[in-house]
Amino acid sequence: MAGLAKLVFVLFVSVYLAQAKHEEYDGHSLYEIRVNDYEEVTKVNDIIDDMNLDRWSFAIPGQDGLVLVAEGMKPLFENALNDIGIEYKIETANIKEKLDLEDKLLAEAARRSNYTRSGAGIDLNVIHRWGVVDQYLTDLARRFPNIVRVVSGGRTFQGRDIKYLRISSNNFQTSSKPIIVIQSLLHAREWVTLPVALQAIHKLVIDVTDQDLIRDADWIIIPIANPDGYEFSHTNNRFWRKNRRTGFGICAGVDLNRNHAFNWGTASSNSACQDTFHGPSAFSEPETQMKRNIINQYRSRIALYIDVHSHGSMILFGFGNRQLPSNALLLNLVGVQMAQRIDAVKWPSHRNYRVGNIVAVIGYTASGGSSDYVQTMIGSRLSYTFELPAYRGQGGLNGFLVEPAFIRQAGVETWEGIKEGARYVIRNRLTLMNDEIANE
Ligand SMILES: [Zn+2]
Repeated sequence: MAGLAKLVFVLFVSVYLAQAKHEEYDGHSLYEIRVNDYEEVTKVNDIIDDMNLDRWSFAIPGQDGLVLVAEGMKPLFENALNDIGIEYKIETANIKEKLDLEDKLLAEAARRSNYTRSGAGIDLNVIHRWGVVDQYLTDLARRFPNIVRVVSGGRTFQGRDIKYLRISSNNFQTSSKPIIVIQSLLHAREWVTLPVALQAIHKLVIDVTDQDLIRDADWIIIPIANPDGYEFSHTNNRFWRKNRRTGFGICAGVDLNRNHAFNWGTASSNSACQDTFHGPSAFSEPETQMKRNIINQYRSRIALYIDVHSHGSMILFGFGNRQLPSNALLLNLVGVQMAQRIDAVKWPSHRNYRVGNIVAVIGYTASGGSSDYVQTMIGSRLSYTFELPAYRGQGGLNGFLVEPAFIRQAGVETWEGIKEGARYVIRNRLTLMNDEIANE
């Protein structure tokens, strides 16, 4: 009897836990917002900021924005939009249903996964947890010691290792080779960005079909730039964006993409309860300190930096304060070339990529951004933020929610763009040496 009672209890707890997941999002609705001009863009953004709502993507002319609104806030939000005549519709009435669906689809995909540790790599159709990726990076360095080095860039607030890979045909010894840096998952909930880093690693180390990319360039790849936040988005709160630092009262987390030393604290939030909290000072966080160390160490050779986010199908460059970098024309040129390569292989249901200065495209200023900081450090070379497509699949998953069918595709199509950018900097020998020659 005791055994049976225990079994019943275990079953009860399992069922209860399964049901309790995503409970805090029960009744939250996802709104699709339409704007016609940049005056409306500003008005909508003011409403979202004033009400401290969860903006998933910016509403801009020609591209509807997505905003998640808690049940109790819905009348207020709708009234505010109605007052200024903004068109909107409810994309998902109860986001919890979509969260449960995502769990189910991703679990099925994980069960189908044929990855074995002794196999050739990692399953590129699965959203892997931090522990799996962390182990994978270590394994790769052991299996391919001639081209892969794994580096521990520091420890997070909760003590996780922030690992990245250095991939090079000769251990970074050729100082004239450009370095290309790819980062994903700086924002925890942007799960679909992880396959981009894993695909890049796969094509540079395991399934090498483009020898020139490894012969003529060195690579630094940071697959999980925000390990604590990423794990929290799996275990506790799917829509968590920041890291997990505490000590700010009742709210936790610093927005790592507002924590870099570029106009720090000028267009971000001072409140730890907001998603764009910039932290107590620039580079206050181990994750951004790691970035600063990488940039300082390789500054003279970094030719291309890509920080991968989701979502909106955009390739954006600096600066987040409306100023254009001195090489804006080149940033635009190479950005368009990368976008065209992605568009050529993207799914037909997706929009074409937009390219441009971040404020010009999304109509919103931001300070402390990662790609802005790197741009100031590498001068006339190239720094971008990618915003991957939002995917609305058969199950209707949209925004940050990921359907397994798109995981592989996100990696494959974005890699086409990255290759194009890499070949541009290789062909044009875009390194500091080049800057110095140009400045003579
Ligand atoms: Zn992001």
